[in-house]
Amino acid sequence: MKVLVTGGAGYIGSHFVKQLIENGYKTVVVDNLSRGHKEAIHPDSVHENASLLDFKKLSGIISNHKPDAIVHFAAFAYVGESVKNPALYYENNVVGSFNLIRASTDIGVNNFVFSSTCSIYGNPEKIPIDETQKSNPINPYANTKLTIEKMLDDFESAYGLRSVSLRYFNAAGADPDSNIGESHIPEPHLIPIVLQVALGKRGKVFIYGNDYDTPDGTCIRDYIHVNDLAAAHIKALEFLIEKNKSEIINLGTGYGNSVLEIIQKSEEITGRKVNYEFVERRKGDPAVLVADNKKAFNLLNWKPEYSIEDIISSAWKWHQNQKY
Ligand code: UDP
Repeated sequence: MKVLVTGGAGYIGSHFVKQLIENGYKTVVVDNLSRGHKEAIHPDSVHENASLLDFKKLSGIISNHKPDAIVHFAAFAYVGESVKNPALYYENNVVGSFNLIRASTDIGVNNFVFSSTCSIYGNPEKIPIDETQKSNPINPYANTKLTIEKMLDDFESAYGLRSVSLRYFNAAGADPDSNIGESHIPEPHLIPIVLQVALGKRGKVFIYGNDYDTPDGTCIRDYIHVNDLAAAHIKALEFLIEKNKSEIINLGTGYGNSVLEIIQKSEEITGRKVNYEFVERRKGDPAVLVADNKKAFNLLNWKPEYSIEDIISSAWKWHQNQKY
């Protein structure tokens, strides 16, 4: 079976491609390297350097390779940037996805897995969050992701596209057995920032708020290992092929950790001091985001295998010897 993966040079995409190849799939990575890393592309994968905004080129690639399925990771994903420059996000994420979805339905590739996000829930009504909760995005990035979910739904009704949209909670960690990991420039995410402080690359962690309604006052997130996410995408592909049915599914562990807990666990794992300072809340941060992941278990027979300690220690290994 052949899978076309957009964003296969990115953080989650590269971990997914590795697992696909280990499971005997053929892969085609479509990535223009605008935010991905050439070094992250698996040596056994075909690479097509193309922008999703180039409809003609994209259609040519899909017709040429005739994949059995498309898994779509490529997107811009900085919330702050999306607030400052929504045009960039609507163009790259919505127009790019539209081109991809249109090309795949035109050509008759009807199995589609989409990288979505828990930020679609906005400030959730209850915790843990299941898929029946109302979507209420509070930033342009999340708006683009919800728009794409809706586009997939409309293309299903009219053209028979089948899709699984996977709403990730906080992706973290790195593959312990290879040289791929998380590298964003600039880096907005907590665990890499904490580990950069442990390495002496930054002075301290600025903790955004300690007056939230949580046991220690700092925000709680559901951190999920990138290899667990990758494994869920393979299960989603199998589900699509077997059941020929579209679904929206949360991917999280069902457990939350506060910012202070992440810092404390990182100090234990690295043996280094991690200095921090409390600063103002970051706009748009909900106090607690934790997944109800029963649907993923029931439909995909998937459950996460990595603990928060595994997440931090695999990320630590990567950051100590970061390749890109
Ligand atoms: N956070 C923080 N300082 C930082 C980066 C993040 O206090 O320098 C907090 C942030 O407010 C959130 C949590 O850490 O509560 C996780 O943030 P991240 O950006 O990693 O993921 P998000 O939940 O925003 O997707």
